[in-house]
Amino acid sequence: LQTDETLPLLASETVEKQTKPKPLHTESSLLSAMEHCGREIGDGQLRTAIREAGIGTPATRAAVIETLFARNYIRRDKKNLVPTEKGLAVYDTVKDKKIADVEMTAAWEDTLAKIETGEADAPSFRRDIEVYTAQIVAELLSATLDVAPSGEQCTCPKCKKSRILFFDKVAKCADVDCGFTLFRNKGGKVLTDKQIVGLVTTGRTPLVKGFRNREGRSFDAALVLNPDFTIGYSFPDRKPQGEKSGRKR
Ligand SMILES: [Zn+2]
Repeated sequence: LQTDETLPLLASETVEKQTKPKPLHTESSLLSAMEHCGREIGDGQLRTAIREAGIGTPATRAAVIETLFARNYIRRDKKNLVPTEKGLAVYDTVKDKKIADVEMTAAWEDTLAKIETGEADAPSFRRDIEVYTAQIVAELLSATLDVAPSGEQCTCPKCKKSRILFFDKVAKCADVDCGFTLFRNKGGKVLTDKQIVGLVTTGRTPLVKGFRNREGRSFDAALVLNPDFTIGYSFPDRKPQGEKSGRKR
């Protein structure tokens, strides 16, 4: 080959491929990631500081993971640790905040090391920590956590802006000023997330079997969202067996 030589291009082709996500953590890979988290830090000095410390200590790292289980942020799938909807919602809320910034921990370790050697002043470090604590508490208090355990997402029918949050007993608008709330308990049944999504988005559900009236008698009905945002029954046109009349709203 010669410098500046021009060669003919014989063929070219584009190939469509997909990147692979990082594999899920196992307990041991997560422990190791906590120990060696400094690899992700850009700043050389901070990276050195955390390299020696990592997140937590050998004695506390396992307990940190146990806490993630206890709070239902992760679950086990064979050896893998899988984040739950709740865990991902918490992550979404805190990921850009100081409390989730591993560089903060690194900066502390760096300062602590400097206090040891007399290069930094302990009382001023303490004051910094106090300021930091006040900041993260303020940050966390102002954070709104959207937890939709089912992963269902729909927009509030009342304000038509905010999301509906699903809880054990109610589904309600994320905006407290809007105040839209649906109770899951209806006619002796507990409405599923899917039924609530149907109600909220289309104004009604398909026929639901096995409601009970006050006398304990069983009946079938579709649910409808009333104009005042309460839940009503809509009875099928044909007379259901065991019911005297088909009532329609
Ligand atoms: Zn709303």
